[in-house]
Amino acid sequence: MKNDCLFCAIAAGEIPSSKVYEDELCYAFYDIAPQAPTHFLVIPKEHIGSVAEVNDANSGVVAHIFEVIAKVAGELGLESYRVVSNIGEQAGQSVHHLHFHVLSGRDMTWPPG
Ligand code: 5GP
Ligand code: ZN
Repeated sequence: MKNDCLFCAIAAGEIPSSKVYEDELCYAFYDIAPQAPTHFLVIPKEHIGSVAEVNDANSGVVAHIFEVIAKVAGELGLESYRVVSNIGEQAGQSVHHLHFHVLSGRDMTWPPG
C-alpha cells in the first residue's frame, strides 16, 4: 500500500466506498461522480500507478481484472458497456493508481472526447 494514495486507502477499507465486487486481488466500487447510469471502477489491491506501469511481473492482475469486469458486468445485466483507463494528465488521469472505468446505460460517442 502506497502512502497518500486514495485508491490504496479505498481498497484497504480505510476510506468508505460503495462496493460492487471484491476478491484477494482486486476491488470494484461505484464512481463518486458517475458519468453514466452505471459507472464503477475496478482497481488492483496492489499499487500500480497506471497502465504505463504494467509489466511482466504484475500483468496477471490486469488479466484478472478483465475477467472480473466480464463477470460483474454479466451479473449486473450490462449488455453494452465501455471500459476506459486514462493514463497521464492529457488523457485525464486524476488518481494515480491503476483503475478501469466501466460505463454503461447511455449512448456513447466515438471517438471519445
Ligand atoms: P481518472 O480521472 O483518474 O480517470 O478517474 C478517477 C475517478 O475516480 C473519477 O471518475 C472520480 O470521480 C473517481 N473518484 C475520485 N475520488 C473518489 C472517491 O473518493 N470515491 C470514489 N468512489 N470515486 C472517486
Ligand atoms: Zn495506490
